[in-house]
Amino acid sequence: MRFEFATATRIIFGPGSIDEVAPEAAGMGKRAFVVTGRSLERAEPLLEQLNKHEIEYVTFNVPAEPTAAIVTEAVKQARQAESDLVIGIGGGSAIDTGKVIAAMLTNTGRLQDYLEVIGLGKPITTNPAPYIAVPTTAGTGAEVTCNAVLAIPEHQVKVSIRSPLMLPRLAVVDPALTYSMPRSITASTGLDALTQLIEAYVSNKANPLTDGICLQGLKRAGRSLQKAYEDGSDAGAREDMALASLFSGLALANAKLGAVHGFAGPLGGMISAPHGVICARLLPFVCQANVRALQSREPSSPALARYDEVARISTGKVSAQAADGVEWIQNLCKALTVPPLAQFGLKEKDFPTVVTKAKKSSSMKGNPIILTDDELIKILRNSQ
Ligand code: NAD
Repeated sequence: MRFEFATATRIIFGPGSIDEVAPEAAGMGKRAFVVTGRSLERAEPLLEQLNKHEIEYVTFNVPAEPTAAIVTEAVKQARQAESDLVIGIGGGSAIDTGKVIAAMLTNTGRLQDYLEVIGLGKPITTNPAPYIAVPTTAGTGAEVTCNAVLAIPEHQVKVSIRSPLMLPRLAVVDPALTYSMPRSITASTGLDALTQLIEAYVSNKANPLTDGICLQGLKRAGRSLQKAYEDGSDAGAREDMALASLFSGLALANAKLGAVHGFAGPLGGMISAPHGVICARLLPFVCQANVRALQSREPSSPALARYDEVARISTGKVSAQAADGVEWIQNLCKALTVPPLAQFGLKEKDFPTVVTKAKKSSSMKGNPIILTDDELIKILRNSQ
């Protein structure tokens, strides 16, 4: 057995930990470039703290999931401001944007050249500017991953820029920042975290370290996602989901994902659905297809025993088996009212293109079994 495990240099977790960002930032730079999501309001307590610690800052607002064009503009502004430190505070969109800015502040050339799949995949060679990632959704776990996902509208696809050097210098995970998420965002981002935990656990690249992390995360998401959805002020449930999200990032960065994320790259570039919604909608159908395919074609695959374990942890029943886990996920998605993908413009005629693109994605290669085109099409049809 051989495996590697890489993560952010340091992780601080806990309610109120947002107050630790500015003192830590003071040791990393003097002029911060602060990347926020749609709302600057959520970053205001942090900006006050930066003032107190005499750190100059400029802010950049990411209005939606980042495109290469948005990030190129942000990099230009960060260079003009001569920023020597980047802080991303928001959902995965703000965190990924900040991650790329930090990398492009020290690495020259065009952003496009560094992109996987549609670019040259040029390596990041110089250490990025210090980067502090502060998630406000639970979530993507992007605060501890080494890639950032960018939409490329002209290619109708989402691709990553990735480097081990892009792991944030500091990840500060404060569950209190997630209390303000409305139900719909709690549902889609929480189901994204659950997806990442399940896919990394059953992935053919899982290792003993990611296994332990996934099982802890699954336990917490299993008992708390619906609670957080029903009562956003439930501190215990929010804390569990913040941990589940963090653990999902630790796991995905060090194991592979699977068919849900294999689909999410192309679908995210073709329809206007948020990433979390795409993952949430596909999750039950991918789990169902994987379990059925494993049972019929590879009944001795260790992945089936892993789906049994997912079922036991999520249902809390010692006798639960893979199919019970699939049913639990289906019921959870119903309770959290995840919208169908047809609502975002996905059409039956798009299925062959989605399948062709998805089969080429690196996440699809982590799926525990190779699904046939018919199985992949059926997953898309079920998600409509
Ligand atoms: P997001 O960052 O796009 O945010 C979704 C919405 O929630 C936005 O409108 C945002 O303003 C709002 N929001 C954020 N925090 C809130 C809060 N506390 N209260 C109320 N509203 C809040 O969504 P996301 O799902 O966190 O991130 C999605 C992006 O992350 C996608 O681009 C996806 O591809 C990427 N991603 C990256 C990785 C990685 O490892 N780099 C992993 C998974 C997903």
